[in-house]
Amino acid sequence: MTHVATPGADVRVAFVGAGPGEADLITVRGAARLQEADVVLFDSLADPALRQLAPNARWIDVGKRGFSGVPHAPRGGKENTGQDTINALLVKHAQSGAQVVRLKGGDPSVFGRLEEELAALATAGIECEVVPGVTAALAAAAATQRPLTRRGAGRSVALTTAMTQSGDLVAGRHADTESFYMAGKQLAALSRRLVAAGWPVETPALVVSRAGWPDQIASEHGVGTLGDATVLHSGRPTVVTIGVGATAIGTSAEPIDASRMTTASATGAAPAAASSDPRAEARSSTP
Ligand code: SAH
Repeated sequence: MTHVATPGADVRVAFVGAGPGEADLITVRGAARLQEADVVLFDSLADPALRQLAPNARWIDVGKRGFSGVPHAPRGGKENTGQDTINALLVKHAQSGAQVVRLKGGDPSVFGRLEEELAALATAGIECEVVPGVTAALAAAAATQRPLTRRGAGRSVALTTAMTQSGDLVAGRHADTESFYMAGKQLAALSRRLVAAGWPVETPALVVSRAGWPDQIASEHGVGTLGDATVLHSGRPTVVTIGVGATAIGTSAEPIDASRMTTASATGAAPAAASSDPRAEARSSTP
């Protein structure tokens, strides 16, 4: 049976999605949970400004970069000691009677190792809840004003990571629009895998880094030229959207001619291309 917190249960741990960027992208409920917290275990991706919501709580950095002194398993390793330690900290603080928030970048349920932490709390018999957040793919769509679904042309969206647990890069073709997480360092390799998986080289590809932050950058490419984005987005959390959801509003939602795209054009917070009336496309598309 699926476990859900019983109404009125003594919920000790709230997993809260911090959103992808600036503090005000958290949900109202997530902010309320922070205000009630005694202890906050947070990831390095979360905006430090969120601390103002819980200035008296004990904030513990368990992000991959910030969690010093804890060895993380190398590629191919079975156990991640860092994750085990996070699980143990969650249980320890909850059992001490503290109100605990586990703050995760974006949405806790998307590439957030939520399953391990929920399992650890369930094993210890600790009630918890999950407060959703805005995931990076949605922030990228908002930043570029390119909807992930398109009436009549884009009926499915896949949230994908090309990285396997063993550190291999794999890619397939799963949906009309596909958003790739954790591939920013390997855009050229991702490009090759996507082409091998059957995506035409001219398929629109949008690369957005630090979506939801004031310094967000978006660039547009074809699947075959994704590697061109490497330098522009280097060292920044990056999400790659390919397929129908990467096309500019007012252009054909079918894969378009690569010559019509501005390769590696940085767009900042503005839409990645001049938009025409979006209603025109909606009117002309079939349901
Ligand atoms: N739970 C998070 C994802 C964590 S995995 C979420 O729902 O968004 C970390 C990956 O998320 C990064 O490698 C990057 O691919 C993506 N990511 C996180 N924040 C991002 C941001 N602000 N802009 C672009 N990509 C981001």
